[in-house]
Amino acid sequence: MELRKDPITRSWVITGDDPVESSRPETACRFCPDAAGGTQVISAIPSAGTWSTRSVVHPTPLYHIEGEPGRRGDGIYDCMSSVGAHEVLVENPRHDRHLWNASDDEVGQFLRLAAERILDLKRDPRIKYVSFFKDYGKNAGQEFSHPTSQITATMFVPRRVLYELRAGREYYVSKERCVFCDILAQEERQAARVIEARGDYVALGPYAPRVPYETWILPRNHEASFERTGLSRPGLRTNLSALLRRTLQRVRTVTEDFHLVLHTSPNSLHPSKTLGYWKTIDDDYHWHIEIMPVLAAKARSYTFKEVYYSPVSSETAVKQMREAKIDG
Ligand SMILES: [Zn+2]
Ligand SMILES: [Zn+2]
Ligand SMILES: [Zn+2]
Repeated sequence: MELRKDPITRSWVITGDDPVESSRPETACRFCPDAAGGTQVISAIPSAGTWSTRSVVHPTPLYHIEGEPGRRGDGIYDCMSSVGAHEVLVENPRHDRHLWNASDDEVGQFLRLAAERILDLKRDPRIKYVSFFKDYGKNAGQEFSHPTSQITATMFVPRRVLYELRAGREYYVSKERCVFCDILAQEERQAARVIEARGDYVALGPYAPRVPYETWILPRNHEASFERTGLSRPGLRTNLSALLRRTLQRVRTVTEDFHLVLHTSPNSLHPSKTLGYWKTIDDDYHWHIEIMPVLAAKARSYTFKEVYYSPVSSETAVKQMREAKIDG
């Protein structure tokens, strides 16, 4: 497998001929505490005794930590080897305990582990971007039955984040304000698309959703990097855990299947001198979690991705999710 860059959209894709075996169905759970060997543990919380959450090497990683990226040109094209890191975050030792039915403390430990892993991977100067994501449900491409998320560390900034970084910087240059802070302020004032606010965190439906019931979770106070908040302020983490848990419960009243991704600032240990978006990143970027529910019945409507088509407005979606009966 290798990484190739589309010269027009400038997005990187992983491509190659994947050996068929990677699609073999899971027989026994490899992530349960009593699983027979094979998983390589990277780090766990707590670090001694019975673990509550831990990260392990992905059994069939898309990115490999060894080797050189070997950035090279192929005529007008760019390609490189898929060097980076790919880990599985085992959210909970229990096979049936998910982010929406675990305790706030358990969700908090998971978020702390995610923050620690991101910070640790960012120590590698080759790594440009680290994030975690979760695909849940068969229509969302769920990979393992155990409650897990995945961390990827890449030598490039993924396209969507790059768009956000550029847009955030442009907005900042003309207004000297963070676009995400401005969105939050307006949304809280209008209150039409806010699902729930919990301490310093807000869950809202974006003004222009890409899919029905798309939801973002953001810190109310400006903060460019999730991993900094995630580690430094345990009190804040409790509110974030509760909000994440409750928001997923709301999403699950609509559909089981969803994608979740963290968007956080890129590795700023070695900022680029040529890329403009680095210059004001701490002021113009604002981390957030995006949840994209997958509605099987509506899937056909937005498979044509040139223009997103979302047949439920955010105002209606938010109203429904706000009123949804959740466990608490
Ligand atoms: Zn399991
Ligand atoms: Zn902000
Ligand atoms: Zn984003």
